[in-house]
Amino acid sequence: PDPQTSSYLDSLNDVQRQAVTTIDGPVLVVAGPGSGKTRVLTYRIAHIIEQGTAPWEVLALTFTNKAAREMKERIETVVGKRASYIWAGTFHSLFARILRVEAQHIGYPTNFTIYDTDDTKSLIGSIIREFHLDKQVYQANAIKNRISSAKSSLITPKLYEKNEELLAQDKMANMPLVYKIYAAYVARCKQAGAMDFDDLLFRLYELLQNHPEVVAKYREKFKHVLVDEFQDTNTLQYAIIKRLVQYPNSPRNICVVGDDAQSIYAFRGATIQNILDFENDFGQHNIRVFKLEQNYRSTENIVNTANAVISYNKRQIQKKIWSDKGTGDKINIIKAVDDNEEGRRVADTILEQKNRYHLQNSDIAILYRTNSQSRIFEEYLRRFNIAYRVYGGQSFYQRKEVKDLIAYLRMVVNPNDEEAFRRSINHPKRGIGGTSVSKVTDLARQQNITLFEALKHVALPNRTRHAADGYIHTIEQAQAKADTANAYELADAIAKGSGLTDMLRNDKSIEGMGRLENHEALLDGIKSFVEEDTLIDTDTLPDKSLATYLQNIALLTDFDSNEENQTGDVVTLMSVHAAKGLEYKSVYVVGLEEKLFPSWMSMDSMEGLDEERRLFYVAITRAEFYLTLSYANTRYRYGKMVMNEPSRFLSEVPADAIENTSSNRRSADHEYDEVSRQREQRASVTGVAPRNRRGTARFAAPKVDPATFQPSPAEEVQTGRNVLHLKFGEGKVIDVDGGADNRIATIHFSELPQPEKRIMLKFAKLQVL
Ligand code: ATP
Ligand code: MG
Repeated sequence: PDPQTSSYLDSLNDVQRQAVTTIDGPVLVVAGPGSGKTRVLTYRIAHIIEQGTAPWEVLALTFTNKAAREMKERIETVVGKRASYIWAGTFHSLFARILRVEAQHIGYPTNFTIYDTDDTKSLIGSIIREFHLDKQVYQANAIKNRISSAKSSLITPKLYEKNEELLAQDKMANMPLVYKIYAAYVARCKQAGAMDFDDLLFRLYELLQNHPEVVAKYREKFKHVLVDEFQDTNTLQYAIIKRLVQYPNSPRNICVVGDDAQSIYAFRGATIQNILDFENDFGQHNIRVFKLEQNYRSTENIVNTANAVISYNKRQIQKKIWSDKGTGDKINIIKAVDDNEEGRRVADTILEQKNRYHLQNSDIAILYRTNSQSRIFEEYLRRFNIAYRVYGGQSFYQRKEVKDLIAYLRMVVNPNDEEAFRRSINHPKRGIGGTSVSKVTDLARQQNITLFEALKHVALPNRTRHAADGYIHTIEQAQAKADTANAYELADAIAKGSGLTDMLRNDKSIEGMGRLENHEALLDGIKSFVEEDTLIDTDTLPDKSLATYLQNIALLTDFDSNEENQTGDVVTLMSVHAAKGLEYKSVYVVGLEEKLFPSWMSMDSMEGLDEERRLFYVAITRAEFYLTLSYANTRYRYGKMVMNEPSRFLSEVPADAIENTSSNRRSADHEYDEVSRQREQRASVTGVAPRNRRGTARFAAPKVDPATFQPSPAEEVQTGRNVLHLKFGEGKVIDVDGGADNRIATIHFSELPQPEKRIMLKFAKLQVL
């Protein structure tokens, strides 16, 4: 089809369309929330494929696996089933996929294990013990962070050992031997055939750096590279992307989209410097920069509030953002006496909104600064019988009984995996206790072999030897079948063979039954992984192996991971970090108190506060029609009752955007001046509602229910038709004039004091009746 008339291009504005169709050379889109960056990226991929590029030649990096899946689904509506061949996913999952194919170049087995945070901490703990260091001084968590940031800065153990600054820091912290632990950690990961999350970036960078033939292969393969949420990439991620799109092999078609004002991962090393550098790095190569200014997500009240709030941050790329969705409802502020009341009133307001605006549960989200805040809202949503789902927090795959079975599966795929060994060797209990494991560890260290190997040779008392042989047999029997059996067959066999299923069945307590359910839910999950049809590109085989399954679950992000639980019509509860990129008709941002949001951990520096404000900005810009902010005067934190000042961010919300609660309405003819404006602003924060300029409602509530409003294409608006406008209500089109893409309708809205309005159809949203 002629690309200029294809329907997906019709659903874009002019600048968006240019960003979608300019597919040769580097493209940068810096734009505010809701301006269609993700939409541009999505349709750009569809367009690239429509123009003849194979889907597996497109590399699209997203923030969560879920975001990638949704993107593929949208693209599928344009290009069909082949959309599933696109290389779309998170940095970690796509890089792991490349590393698996190329593992032999860096001395790793193809079936390498991915260590999660617990594995990493446990391994560091063992090293600290083996070095006979004081674990009160050498804290595993702190060392994990030191190692992680070294890797992210491309500092190998060799470089670390010579880095005076790092060594001095370690001395200051009373941990002069961190460099030794780091070296041992890297060696042990390698011996175990394991990579931690940082390795997936670090090792890929090394691979691309040291193996010209490999880098050339991927530069040729990926004809197009696209990155969403570019403001949250870290230096190493950007370095890898740059290596992937260099001449001579790469056509250098790279498109990144982002918003510096939404950068919320500085604490993990992300830097908006990447946005600034991008223009320089690709400045020589006909870079095109697009700015999107129209917000299609939110009402004017919400957009104006967001603009006002972010203006308190001094350093930012200037952007104009506007909306034509009408002024919309004002922002509702809930002031509660304590956290209980906050929970109750939020749930109460949700019920009321559902009735008044005909909202579904799934139109609503409650966003908080820290995951621990979810509990109180869960309690009241349950009491009010409102279905909900919590993202983040402890995910299904972090549960003990789930990890126990996964440890066995990891042993089958990679018997060198030390952490899986430690977890599984005496669980269920088979009499191989601490003393025996120490013997195994000692032998392994002496002979520089893996724990599994050592277990085969170590001298043990008869009964223990017998148990050890049983364990070895279970693993090796499953391994023997690994080439012919699929993931489910293997998992099912090992669940029974290991004794895990029996152990859980024999526990008749309520908790025990819950654990058995999770154990079986995991097996069901593996079954559906085997049964669902996935298309894989020509580089990797269609793969239902246990190794692939384990990789998929190891790389779920915090924000992907609760999906197993339920779908359907539920209210979403999540941290603000997890809400990035998402949108809901009604959003509640809760716990707006000093020390909570902004967090006490970020309050003592300008940078910290700016980041908290960007986080608040991300939160409020998730809302399409209704925004509710809430705070409590007192709440329990860490078991103590604390008094809270309202968050400073509340006082940054423009007074005239805030709902005037009826009980506090003042006289109509109040003279408005700056002093009273400030007083009102303060008052609005302390709960006394502000007056607005003219005393009457300055912004009428929408006449039409936004939830059911469905704007029609501009062409359908013609003389004589009856139409609906969100703000003005029902009207009749009297006349349409103006040029082809600048049509203006004159419409008579009978409910307005001045009924006749002239409306540019390009921007207006009208529903033809
Ligand atoms: P964020 O910065 O929050 O990630 P974004 O810039 O990625 O936002 P999108 O999520 O792509 O914005 O778009 C916001 C909403 O506006 C979506 O519902 C999208 O479908 C809609 N939208 C974007 N562009 C248009 C358009 N030209 N016409 C109609 N709707 C649009
Ligand atoms: Mg987006």
